[in-house]
Amino acid sequence: MISLKTQYDAIVVGAGPAGSTTGALLAEKGRDVLIVEKEKFPRYHVGESLMPFCYFPLERLGLIDQLMESGNPRKYCVQFVREDGFLSQPFYFFQHFDHPSSTTWQVWREEFDQMILDKARENGASVLEQTKANRLIKQGDKVTGIKASSQEFGDLELTAPVVIDASGRDCFAAHKENWMVRDPELKKVALWTYYKNAKRDPGLDEGATTVAYLPGKGWFWYIPLSGDMVSVGIVAERDYLFNGSTKDHAEIFQREIKNNAWIEEHLQGAEQTGEYRITGEYSYRNKYCSMDGLVLAGDALGFLDPVFSSGVFLALKSGTMLADEVDAAFLLAQ
Ligand SMILES: Cc1cc2nc3c(=O)[nH]c(=O)nc-3n(C[C@H](O)[C@H](O)[C@H](O)COP(=O)(O)OP(=O)(O)OC[C@H]3O[C@@H](n4cnc5c(N)ncnc54)[C@H](O)[C@@H]3O)c2cc1C
Repeated sequence: MISLKTQYDAIVVGAGPAGSTTGALLAEKGRDVLIVEKEKFPRYHVGESLMPFCYFPLERLGLIDQLMESGNPRKYCVQFVREDGFLSQPFYFFQHFDHPSSTTWQVWREEFDQMILDKARENGASVLEQTKANRLIKQGDKVTGIKASSQEFGDLELTAPVVIDASGRDCFAAHKENWMVRDPELKKVALWTYYKNAKRDPGLDEGATTVAYLPGKGWFWYIPLSGDMVSVGIVAERDYLFNGSTKDHAEIFQREIKNNAWIEEHLQGAEQTGEYRITGEYSYRNKYCSMDGLVLAGDALGFLDPVFSSGVFLALKSGTMLADEVDAAFLLAQ
C-alpha cells in the first residue's frame, strides 16, 4: 500500500528488468520515483536465459549474492546442434573472460523480475501495480507526465520532469508517437512450452543454453530451469511453421521435434506441461529514443531477435545507463 502523490522526480512505465533497474538506481540516488506496472507481480514472462554481462548491472543492484544462493541452474556455456543432432563444442564463457561474470543463470522471469522490483522498493521507489499508463501528458512538445488507470486508485494524472518508458514490447510511447519501424526481413514467430523431466547434459553443460537448428532458418531454444523444468521454444518463419496441414500449435511443435535429433532425444520420456505460447511481429526498432521529458529503455526502445539471449542484458544495461543520465540531468538543473 503506498500513499499516493501525483508529482514525482521520475515516472517509470513498466516493472520489467529495464524499468525496475532504472527505478531502483534512481531511488538509491535519492530521487523520488514512481514505477507503474499494469500487471500484478509476480507475472509470467518469456526470456529465461541470461548473458554473462548481466552480472555487472546485477552487481550494481546488489543482487549477485541472492542469485548465487538461488537454485537457478548455472549457465557456463552455449552450444549449437545441427539438424542431424551433431553437437558443437560448447562455447564456455570462462575460456574467454576469467571473471565471475562468466557463470550466469537460467531464471524463471516471474522470480527474477520480482527480485529487481523488490530491490527498487527497498531503495525507496514507490510502485503501483495493476496500473496501466494510457496516455502521455504534454505541454507543447514536452512530456510532463502520464494518464493512467489504477485498479486501486482509478484514473490518475501523474506528473514528473521525466517519464521513462520501459513498457517492453507493448511500446507504450512508441505507439503514441508513431515511432515504430518493423523489420521486413525479420518476420519470425516464436512458439514455446515447458517440459518436466527432460534430459540434461552432464557436468558443466547441465545448465547450457542449446540452440538446435531446424530446416529453413529456424531453430529451437532449450533452456534448463529449476524444478526439473526446461523451456523449449521454436523460432522460425511464419510461412515455414504454418505451411503444413495443421494450424494447431501442439501438433506443429510435435512435428518440429522430429526435425532435430538432439531435441527429440532430450525430450523422450519428458512431460509437456502447461500451454503452448506463441508470439510474432517482435522485431522492431524506434525512430527516436527520447524527446523532451521522455526517454525509452529496454524492449520499449527496440527488439530484434532472441537468438543470443541479449534482451534482459540490454534491459538491465539501459536501465543503469538511464538512471545515471537522468540523475546527471537533475544535478545539472539544480
Ligand atoms: C520468444 C522470445 C524469447 C526470448 N528469450 C530471451 C532469453 O532467453 N533471454 C533474454 O535475455 N531475453 C529473451 N527475450 C527478450 C526478453 O524477454 C526481453 O528483452 C526483456 O524482457 C526486456 O525487458 P524490459 O524490461 O524491457 O521489458 P519487459 O520485461 O517486457 O517488461 C515490461 C513491463 O511493462 C509492463 N507494461 C507494459 N505496458 C504497460 C503500460 N502501458 N503501463 C504499465 N505497465 C506496462 C509489462 O506488464 C511488463 O511487466 C526473449 C523474447 C522473446 C520474444
